Amino acid sequence: MDVKIGLECHAQLLTQSKLFCSCSTDYHNAEPNTHVCATCLGLPGALPVVNERAIRYGIKVALALGCTIQPRVIFYRKNYYYPDLPRGFQITQYEFPIAFNGLVRVESDGEKEREIRIKRVHMEEDPGRLVYRGTIDTATYSLVDYNRSGIPLVEIVTEPDLKSPKEARIFLGKLRSILEYLSVFDGDLEGAMRVDANISLKGGERAEVKNISSYKGVEKALSFEITRQKNLLRRGLTVQQETRHYDETRGVTLSLRTKEFEHDYRYFPEPDLVPIRISNRIEEIRREIPELPDEKKLRFIAQYSLTMEHANALTFDRHIADFYESVASKIYPKLSATWIADVLKGELNYRAISMREASKRILPDDFVAILRYLKKGVITERGATAIIREMLDHGGKPEEILTRKGLARIGSEVIEEAIQAVIEENEAAVKDYQAGKSEALNFLVGQVVKHTEGTADPKEVRRRLEEKMKA
Ligand code: ZN
Ligand code: MN
Repeated sequence: MDVKIGLECHAQLLTQSKLFCSCSTDYHNAEPNTHVCATCLGLPGALPVVNERAIRYGIKVALALGCTIQPRVIFYRKNYYYPDLPRGFQITQYEFPIAFNGLVRVESDGEKEREIRIKRVHMEEDPGRLVYRGTIDTATYSLVDYNRSGIPLVEIVTEPDLKSPKEARIFLGKLRSILEYLSVFDGDLEGAMRVDANISLKGGERAEVKNISSYKGVEKALSFEITRQKNLLRRGLTVQQETRHYDETRGVTLSLRTKEFEHDYRYFPEPDLVPIRISNRIEEIRREIPELPDEKKLRFIAQYSLTMEHANALTFDRHIADFYESVASKIYPKLSATWIADVLKGELNYRAISMREASKRILPDDFVAILRYLKKGVITERGATAIIREMLDHGGKPEEILTRKGLARIGSEVIEEAIQAVIEENEAAVKDYQAGKSEALNFLVGQVVKHTEGTADPKEVRRRLEEKMKA
Protein backbone atom coordinates (compact mmCIF):
# COMPACT_ATOMS: atom_id res chain seq x y z
CA MET A 1 0.00 0.00 0.00
CA ASP A 2 1.39 3.35 -1.05
CA VAL A 3 1.28 5.60 2.03
CA LYS A 4 2.59 9.14 2.19
CA ILE A 5 3.05 10.89 5.49
CA GLY A 6 4.23 14.41 6.16
CA LEU A 7 4.64 15.92 9.61
CA GLU A 8 4.48 19.41 11.04
CA CYS A 9 6.32 19.22 14.33
CA HIS A 10 5.97 21.99 16.87
CA ALA A 11 8.73 21.98 19.47
CA GLN A 12 8.80 24.28 22.49
CA LEU A 13 12.09 26.12 22.79
CA LEU A 14 13.77 26.29 26.20
CA THR A 15 13.99 30.03 26.63
CA GLN A 16 13.46 31.73 29.98
CA SER A 17 10.82 34.12 28.71
CA LYS A 18 8.10 33.95 26.07
CA LEU A 19 8.46 34.87 22.39
CA PHE A 20 7.01 38.38 22.51
CA CYS A 21 6.87 39.35 26.21
CA SER A 22 8.89 38.86 29.37
CA CYS A 23 6.55 36.37 31.05
CA SER A 24 8.27 33.27 32.41
CA THR A 25 8.05 30.09 30.35
CA ASP A 26 8.23 27.98 33.49
CA TYR A 27 4.52 27.23 33.47
CA HIS A 28 4.48 23.47 34.02
CA ASN A 29 2.95 22.78 37.45
CA ALA A 30 1.94 26.46 37.79
CA GLU A 31 -1.59 27.57 38.64
CA PRO A 32 -3.57 28.36 35.46
CA ASN A 33 -3.34 31.91 34.13
CA THR A 34 -0.54 33.03 36.44
CA HIS A 35 2.18 33.49 33.77
CA VAL A 36 0.42 36.06 31.67
CA CYS A 37 0.48 39.74 30.71
CA ALA A 38 -1.39 42.03 28.32
CA THR A 39 0.76 40.89 25.38
CA CYS A 40 0.42 37.13 25.72
CA LEU A 41 -3.26 37.46 26.68
CA GLY A 42 -3.70 39.31 23.39
CA LEU A 43 -5.31 42.42 24.90
CA PRO A 44 -5.92 45.30 22.48
CA GLY A 45 -3.00 47.68 22.08
CA ALA A 46 -0.36 45.43 23.66
CA LEU A 47 2.81 45.36 21.56
CA PRO A 48 5.10 42.38 20.92
CA VAL A 49 8.88 42.55 21.38
CA VAL A 50 10.92 39.72 19.85
CA ASN A 51 12.91 37.46 22.17
CA GLU A 52 16.38 37.43 20.64
CA ARG A 53 17.40 34.13 22.20
CA ALA A 54 14.35 32.39 20.77
CA ILE A 55 15.39 33.48 17.29
CA ARG A 56 18.94 32.23 17.91
CA TYR A 57 17.56 28.86 19.01
CA GLY A 58 15.39 28.71 15.91
CA ILE A 59 18.43 29.35 13.71
CA LYS A 60 20.40 26.75 15.63
CA VAL A 61 17.72 24.16 14.95
CA ALA A 62 17.56 25.04 11.26
CA LEU A 63 21.35 24.79 10.92
CA ALA A 64 21.43 21.45 12.72
CA LEU A 65 18.86 20.13 10.23
CA GLY A 66 21.06 21.24 7.37
CA CYS A 67 18.66 23.94 6.18
CA THR A 68 19.44 27.02 4.14
CA ILE A 69 18.99 30.01 6.41
CA GLN A 70 17.11 32.94 4.93
CA PRO A 71 18.72 36.36 5.16
CA ARG A 72 15.54 38.08 6.28
CA VAL A 73 12.79 36.83 8.52
CA ILE A 74 9.36 38.43 8.70
CA PHE A 75 6.59 37.63 11.15
CA TYR A 76 3.05 37.36 9.80
CA ARG A 77 -0.40 37.32 11.26
CA LYS A 78 -2.35 34.13 10.68
CA ASN A 79 -5.97 35.04 11.24
CA TYR A 80 -8.37 32.65 12.88
CA TYR A 81 -10.42 32.64 16.02
CA TYR A 82 -10.26 30.01 18.71
CA PRO A 83 -10.80 30.44 22.47
CA ASP A 84 -7.12 29.68 23.13
CA LEU A 85 -6.20 32.61 20.84
CA PRO A 86 -8.29 35.57 21.98
CA ARG A 87 -6.64 38.19 19.81
CA GLY A 88 -7.89 36.45 16.70
CA PHE A 89 -4.54 35.82 15.04
CA GLN A 90 -1.37 33.87 15.69
CA ILE A 91 1.98 35.53 15.06
CA THR A 92 3.90 33.11 12.87
CA GLN A 93 6.13 33.12 9.78
CA TYR A 94 4.91 32.62 6.27
CA GLU A 95 6.72 33.69 3.11
CA PHE A 96 9.94 34.58 4.93
CA PRO A 97 10.57 31.81 7.45
CA ILE A 98 13.92 31.15 9.11
CA ALA A 99 14.94 28.44 6.69
CA PHE A 100 14.12 26.01 3.87
CA ASN A 101 15.36 22.62 2.65
CA GLY A 102 16.94 20.44 5.29
CA LEU A 103 17.45 16.75 5.88
CA VAL A 104 17.08 14.25 8.71
CA ARG A 105 18.50 10.73 8.49
CA VAL A 106 16.43 8.02 10.10
CA GLU A 107 17.52 4.54 11.02
CA SER A 108 14.47 2.89 9.54
CA ASP A 109 14.23 -0.66 10.79
CA GLY A 110 15.28 -3.42 8.46
CA GLU A 111 16.27 -0.93 5.80
CA LYS A 112 19.32 1.19 5.54
CA GLU A 113 19.21 4.79 6.67
CA ARG A 114 16.63 6.90 4.89
CA GLU A 115 16.70 10.60 4.29
CA ILE A 116 13.60 12.59 5.17
CA ARG A 117 13.53 16.00 3.54
CA ILE A 118 12.68 19.04 5.64
CA LYS A 119 10.62 21.55 3.71
CA ARG A 120 10.87 24.51 6.03
CA VAL A 121 11.58 25.67 9.57
CA HIS A 122 9.73 28.61 11.00
CA MET A 123 8.92 30.15 14.35
CA GLU A 124 5.63 31.01 15.91
CA GLU A 125 3.96 31.56 19.25
CA ASP A 126 2.12 28.79 21.08
CA PRO A 127 -1.57 29.47 21.76
CA GLY A 128 -3.11 28.89 25.18
CA ARG A 129 -4.36 25.51 26.26
CA LEU A 130 -7.95 24.32 26.38
CA VAL A 131 -8.74 21.89 29.13
CA TYR A 132 -11.77 19.78 28.36
CA ARG A 133 -13.93 18.34 31.08
CA GLY A 134 -14.11 14.88 29.55
CA THR A 135 -13.11 14.42 25.93
CA ILE A 136 -13.19 16.95 23.11
CA ASP A 137 -16.48 15.62 21.71
CA THR A 138 -18.29 14.87 24.96
CA ALA A 139 -17.26 17.80 27.20
CA THR A 140 -20.11 20.10 28.14
CA TYR A 141 -17.66 22.93 28.75
CA SER A 142 -13.94 23.58 28.62
CA LEU A 143 -11.51 25.77 30.54
CA VAL A 144 -8.72 27.87 29.13
CA ASP A 145 -5.23 28.41 30.51
CA TYR A 146 -3.10 31.14 28.91
CA ASN A 147 0.15 30.23 30.68
CA ARG A 148 1.32 28.49 27.52
CA SER A 149 0.23 31.35 25.28
CA GLY A 150 3.30 32.97 23.71
CA ILE A 151 5.79 30.16 24.40
CA PRO A 152 8.26 30.11 21.49
CA LEU A 153 7.75 27.22 19.09
CA VAL A 154 9.92 26.11 16.26
CA GLU A 155 7.88 24.36 13.60
CA ILE A 156 9.63 21.78 11.46
CA VAL A 157 7.73 20.76 8.36
CA THR A 158 8.74 17.63 6.46
CA GLU A 159 8.07 16.69 2.86
CA PRO A 160 5.65 13.73 2.59
CA ASP A 161 8.61 11.32 2.64
CA LEU A 162 7.61 9.07 5.51
CA LYS A 163 6.31 5.68 4.48
CA SER A 164 4.76 4.22 7.60
CA PRO A 165 3.47 5.15 11.06
CA LYS A 166 6.47 3.42 12.55
CA GLU A 167 8.87 5.42 10.44
CA ALA A 168 7.07 8.58 11.56
CA ARG A 169 7.72 7.61 15.17
CA ILE A 170 11.38 6.86 14.44
CA PHE A 171 11.69 10.24 12.70
CA LEU A 172 10.21 12.05 15.70
CA GLY A 173 12.61 10.25 18.01
CA LYS A 174 15.53 11.35 15.86
CA LEU A 175 14.26 14.92 15.74
CA ARG A 176 13.90 14.93 19.51
CA SER A 177 17.42 13.61 19.85
CA ILE A 178 18.85 16.37 17.65
CA LEU A 179 16.92 19.12 19.45
CA GLU A 180 18.08 17.82 22.82
CA TYR A 181 21.71 17.72 21.67
CA LEU A 182 21.33 21.43 20.92
CA SER A 183 20.12 22.11 24.49
CA VAL A 184 17.15 24.05 23.14
CA PHE A 185 14.48 21.46 23.92
CA ASP A 186 13.39 19.09 26.65
CA GLY A 187 11.29 16.22 25.33
CA ASP A 188 10.41 15.08 28.84
CA LEU A 189 8.26 18.17 29.45
CA GLU A 190 4.59 17.51 28.92
CA GLY A 191 3.41 18.74 25.53
CA ALA A 192 6.91 19.83 24.50
CA MET A 193 6.39 18.36 21.03
CA ARG A 194 3.05 18.51 19.25
CA VAL A 195 2.56 17.11 15.81
CA ASP A 196 0.10 17.63 12.97
CA ALA A 197 0.27 14.69 10.58
CA ASN A 198 -0.81 14.67 6.96
CA ILE A 199 -1.55 11.29 5.54
CA SER A 200 -2.79 10.07 2.20
CA LEU A 201 -3.15 6.73 0.49
CA LYS A 202 -2.74 6.26 -3.22
CA GLY A 203 -5.98 7.31 -4.87
CA GLY A 204 -7.31 9.39 -1.97
CA GLU A 205 -7.19 12.93 -0.65
CA ARG A 206 -5.02 13.67 2.33
CA ALA A 207 -6.38 14.03 5.80
CA GLU A 208 -4.69 16.03 8.52
CA VAL A 209 -4.67 14.83 12.12
CA LYS A 210 -4.08 17.79 14.40
CA ASN A 211 -2.31 18.24 17.65
CA ILE A 212 -1.04 14.81 18.57
CA SER A 213 0.93 15.27 21.73
CA SER A 214 2.81 12.05 22.28
CA TYR A 215 5.33 10.08 20.25
CA LYS A 216 3.37 6.86 20.57
CA GLY A 217 0.20 8.82 19.77
CA VAL A 218 1.57 9.74 16.35
CA GLU A 219 2.16 6.12 15.41
CA LYS A 220 -1.25 5.03 16.70
CA ALA A 221 -3.18 7.91 15.12
CA LEU A 222 -1.52 7.25 11.76
CA SER A 223 -2.21 3.51 11.94
CA PHE A 224 -5.84 4.26 12.70
CA GLU A 225 -6.00 6.67 9.75
CA ILE A 226 -4.51 4.13 7.33
CA THR A 227 -7.15 1.57 8.28
CA ARG A 228 -9.94 4.14 8.08
CA GLN A 229 -8.87 5.45 4.67
CA LYS A 230 -8.25 1.95 3.31
CA ASN A 231 -11.75 0.90 4.28
CA LEU A 232 -13.28 3.97 2.61
CA LEU A 233 -11.37 3.38 -0.61
CA ARG A 234 -12.18 -0.31 -0.59
CA ARG A 235 -15.88 0.51 -0.39
CA GLY A 236 -15.51 2.88 -3.33
CA LEU A 237 -16.00 5.99 -1.14
CA THR A 238 -13.80 9.07 -1.21
CA VAL A 239 -11.41 10.21 1.49
CA GLN A 240 -12.34 13.80 2.18
CA GLN A 241 -9.75 16.48 2.64
CA GLU A 242 -10.39 17.38 6.23
CA THR A 243 -8.92 18.10 9.64
CA ARG A 244 -9.27 15.39 12.24
CA HIS A 245 -8.61 15.15 15.93
CA TYR A 246 -6.87 12.21 17.59
CA ASP A 247 -8.57 10.97 20.73
CA GLU A 248 -5.68 9.58 22.73
CA THR A 249 -7.75 7.62 25.24
CA ARG A 250 -9.90 5.86 22.65
CA GLY A 251 -7.21 5.59 19.98
CA VAL A 252 -9.44 6.93 17.18
CA THR A 253 -9.43 10.03 14.95
CA LEU A 254 -12.58 12.12 14.61
CA SER A 255 -13.56 14.67 12.01
CA LEU A 256 -13.22 18.24 13.33
CA ARG A 257 -13.95 20.27 10.23
CA THR A 258 -13.45 20.07 6.51
CA LYS A 259 -10.00 21.33 5.74
CA GLU A 260 -9.51 25.05 5.60
CA PHE A 261 -7.26 26.43 2.87
CA GLU A 262 -4.20 28.56 3.27
CA HIS A 263 -5.91 31.62 1.77
CA ASP A 264 -8.62 31.39 4.44
CA TYR A 265 -6.12 32.64 6.99
CA ARG A 266 -5.55 36.01 5.24
CA TYR A 267 -1.87 36.05 6.14
CA PHE A 268 -0.26 39.50 6.19
CA PRO A 269 2.95 40.92 7.68
CA GLU A 270 2.73 41.72 11.37
CA PRO A 271 2.80 45.55 11.39
CA ASP A 272 4.06 45.76 14.99
CA LEU A 273 7.32 43.92 14.27
CA VAL A 274 10.13 44.87 11.91
CA PRO A 275 11.81 42.39 9.56
CA ILE A 276 14.78 40.68 11.20
CA ARG A 277 18.10 40.44 9.39
CA ILE A 278 19.88 37.30 10.54
CA SER A 279 22.61 36.74 7.98
CA ASN A 280 25.28 38.36 10.14
CA ARG A 281 24.59 35.96 13.06
CA ILE A 282 24.73 32.69 11.20
CA GLU A 283 28.45 31.89 11.52
CA GLU A 284 28.50 32.76 15.19
CA ILE A 285 25.53 30.46 15.86
CA ARG A 286 26.99 27.69 13.72
CA ARG A 287 30.01 27.59 16.04
CA GLU A 288 27.71 26.87 19.00
CA ILE A 289 26.42 23.67 17.44
CA PRO A 290 27.87 20.63 19.20
CA GLU A 291 28.68 17.29 17.68
CA LEU A 292 25.30 15.88 16.59
CA PRO A 293 24.04 12.27 16.83
CA ASP A 294 25.00 11.26 13.26
CA GLU A 295 28.57 12.52 13.59
CA LYS A 296 28.94 11.12 17.07
CA LYS A 297 27.74 7.75 15.86
CA LEU A 298 30.40 7.60 13.14
CA ARG A 299 33.08 8.72 15.58
CA PHE A 300 32.08 6.07 18.13
CA ILE A 301 32.32 3.38 15.46
CA ALA A 302 35.77 4.58 14.40
CA GLN A 303 37.17 5.38 17.83
CA TYR A 304 35.76 2.53 19.93
CA SER A 305 35.17 -0.11 17.23
CA LEU A 306 31.48 -0.31 18.03
CA THR A 307 28.84 -2.03 15.95
CA MET A 308 26.34 0.20 14.16
CA GLU A 309 23.64 -1.09 16.48
CA HIS A 310 25.55 -0.15 19.63
CA ALA A 311 26.61 3.18 18.16
CA ASN A 312 22.96 4.00 17.43
CA ALA A 313 21.83 2.95 20.88
CA LEU A 314 24.57 4.94 22.59
CA THR A 315 24.21 8.20 20.67
CA PHE A 316 20.43 8.54 20.55
CA ASP A 317 20.23 10.23 23.96
CA ARG A 318 23.04 12.67 24.58
CA HIS A 319 23.09 11.87 28.30
CA ILE A 320 23.73 8.23 27.48
CA ALA A 321 26.39 9.23 24.96
CA ASP A 322 28.16 11.37 27.56
CA PHE A 323 27.89 8.61 30.14
CA TYR A 324 29.30 6.05 27.71
CA GLU A 325 32.23 8.26 26.79
CA SER A 326 33.16 8.88 30.42
CA VAL A 327 33.20 5.12 31.06
CA ALA A 328 34.82 4.08 27.77
CA SER A 329 37.60 6.63 28.14
CA LYS A 330 38.67 4.78 31.31
CA ILE A 331 38.17 1.12 30.49
CA TYR A 332 37.17 -1.52 27.95
CA PRO A 333 35.17 0.49 25.34
CA LYS A 334 33.51 -2.59 23.85
CA LEU A 335 32.53 -4.16 27.15
CA SER A 336 31.24 -0.75 28.28
CA ALA A 337 29.15 -0.50 25.11
CA THR A 338 27.52 -3.86 25.75
CA TRP A 339 26.79 -3.09 29.37
CA ILE A 340 25.44 0.39 28.76
CA ALA A 341 23.55 -0.19 25.50
CA ASP A 342 22.10 -3.58 26.42
CA VAL A 343 21.96 -3.87 30.19
CA LEU A 344 21.78 -0.34 31.61
CA LYS A 345 19.40 0.93 28.92
CA GLY A 346 17.18 -2.10 29.44
CA GLU A 347 17.02 -1.41 33.17
CA LEU A 348 16.21 2.26 32.51
CA ASN A 349 13.42 1.36 30.07
CA TYR A 350 12.01 -1.13 32.52
CA ARG A 351 11.83 1.59 35.17
CA ALA A 352 10.74 4.28 32.68
CA ILE A 353 13.47 6.64 33.84
CA SER A 354 15.79 8.70 31.69
CA MET A 355 19.58 8.60 31.81
CA ARG A 356 19.55 12.18 32.99
CA GLU A 357 17.54 11.09 36.01
CA ALA A 358 19.55 7.91 36.55
CA SER A 359 22.82 9.81 36.49
CA LYS A 360 21.95 11.19 39.92
CA ARG A 361 22.23 7.63 41.24
CA ILE A 362 24.88 6.03 39.13
CA LEU A 363 28.04 7.86 38.12
CA PRO A 364 30.42 6.87 35.32
CA ASP A 365 33.01 5.98 37.97
CA ASP A 366 30.56 3.58 39.61
CA PHE A 367 30.08 1.89 36.28
CA VAL A 368 33.83 1.69 35.79
CA ALA A 369 34.11 -0.02 39.18
CA ILE A 370 31.39 -2.54 38.31
CA LEU A 371 33.00 -3.43 34.99
CA ARG A 372 36.38 -3.77 36.67
CA TYR A 373 34.97 -6.23 39.22
CA LEU A 374 33.41 -8.13 36.37
CA LYS A 375 36.51 -8.23 34.22
CA LYS A 376 38.65 -9.39 37.14
CA GLY A 377 36.22 -12.13 37.96
CA VAL A 378 35.30 -10.66 41.33
CA ILE A 379 31.63 -10.74 40.41
CA THR A 380 29.60 -12.66 37.86
CA GLU A 381 27.44 -11.04 35.16
CA ARG A 382 24.47 -11.67 37.37
CA GLY A 383 26.23 -9.93 40.22
CA ALA A 384 27.00 -6.93 38.01
CA THR A 385 23.36 -6.66 36.95
CA ALA A 386 22.26 -6.95 40.57
CA ILE A 387 24.52 -4.04 41.56
CA ILE A 388 23.17 -1.88 38.72
CA ARG A 389 19.58 -2.65 39.73
CA GLU A 390 20.24 -1.94 43.39
CA MET A 391 21.88 1.40 42.55
CA LEU A 392 18.97 2.46 40.34
CA ASP A 393 16.35 1.43 42.89
CA HIS A 394 17.96 2.43 46.17
CA GLY A 395 21.24 4.18 45.48
CA GLY A 396 24.48 3.11 47.17
CA LYS A 397 27.97 2.41 45.88
CA PRO A 398 29.18 -0.72 44.05
CA GLU A 399 31.72 -1.73 46.69
CA GLU A 400 29.27 -1.41 49.54
CA ILE A 401 26.48 -3.25 47.68
CA LEU A 402 28.87 -6.01 46.71
CA THR A 403 29.76 -6.62 50.34
CA ARG A 404 26.29 -6.10 51.77
CA LYS A 405 24.62 -8.42 49.27
CA GLY A 406 27.43 -10.97 49.30
CA LEU A 407 27.81 -10.73 45.53
CA ALA A 408 31.52 -11.44 45.38
CA ARG A 409 32.28 -14.63 43.57
CA ILE A 410 33.19 -16.74 46.53
CA GLY A 411 36.06 -18.12 45.55
CA SER A 412 39.21 -19.52 46.26
CA GLU A 413 39.82 -19.50 42.53
CA VAL A 414 39.64 -15.74 42.38
CA ILE A 415 42.08 -15.37 45.23
CA GLU A 416 44.23 -18.08 43.73
CA GLU A 417 44.38 -16.22 40.40
CA ALA A 418 45.23 -13.00 42.15
CA ILE A 419 47.99 -14.63 44.22
CA GLN A 420 49.46 -16.21 41.13
CA ALA A 421 49.47 -12.87 39.29
CA VAL A 422 51.00 -10.98 42.20
CA ILE A 423 53.75 -13.55 42.71
CA GLU A 424 54.66 -13.36 39.04
CA GLU A 425 54.68 -9.58 39.02
CA ASN A 426 56.70 -9.17 42.22
CA GLU A 427 59.64 -11.53 42.03
CA ALA A 428 61.86 -9.27 44.12
CA ALA A 429 59.39 -9.13 47.01
CA VAL A 430 58.97 -12.90 46.92
CA LYS A 431 62.76 -13.37 47.13
CA ASP A 432 62.93 -10.88 50.01
CA TYR A 433 60.31 -12.85 51.88
CA GLN A 434 62.08 -16.13 51.25
CA ALA A 435 65.28 -14.49 52.49
CA GLY A 436 63.52 -13.81 55.77
CA LYS A 437 62.26 -10.24 55.35
CA SER A 438 58.79 -10.53 56.87
CA GLU A 439 57.67 -7.03 55.85
CA ALA A 440 57.71 -8.22 52.22
CA LEU A 441 54.74 -10.42 53.11
CA ASN A 442 52.66 -7.41 54.15
CA PHE A 443 53.41 -5.81 50.83
CA LEU A 444 52.35 -8.91 48.88
CA VAL A 445 49.13 -9.31 50.89
CA GLY A 446 48.32 -5.71 50.08
CA GLN A 447 48.93 -6.31 46.37
CA VAL A 448 46.62 -9.33 46.28
CA VAL A 449 43.82 -7.53 48.11
CA LYS A 450 44.18 -4.64 45.69
CA HIS A 451 44.09 -7.05 42.76
CA THR A 452 40.68 -8.31 43.91
CA GLU A 453 39.41 -4.76 44.28
CA GLY A 454 39.38 -5.10 48.05
CA THR A 455 37.11 -8.12 48.15
CA ALA A 456 39.55 -10.74 49.37
CA ASP A 457 39.95 -11.30 53.09
CA PRO A 458 43.53 -10.26 54.03
CA LYS A 459 43.87 -13.00 56.68
CA GLU A 460 43.05 -15.69 54.19
CA VAL A 461 45.35 -14.13 51.61
CA ARG A 462 48.21 -14.08 54.15
CA ARG A 463 47.70 -17.74 55.04
CA ARG A 464 47.59 -18.83 51.41
CA LEU A 465 50.56 -16.69 50.40
CA GLU A 466 52.71 -18.14 53.15
CA GLU A 467 51.76 -21.64 52.11
CA LYS A 468 52.49 -20.97 48.48
CA MET A 469 55.86 -19.30 49.00
CA LYS A 470 57.08 -22.09 51.29
CA ALA A 471 56.72 -24.56 48.46
ZN1 ZN B 1 3.22 37.75 28.73
MN1 MN C 1 1.95 25.81 13.29
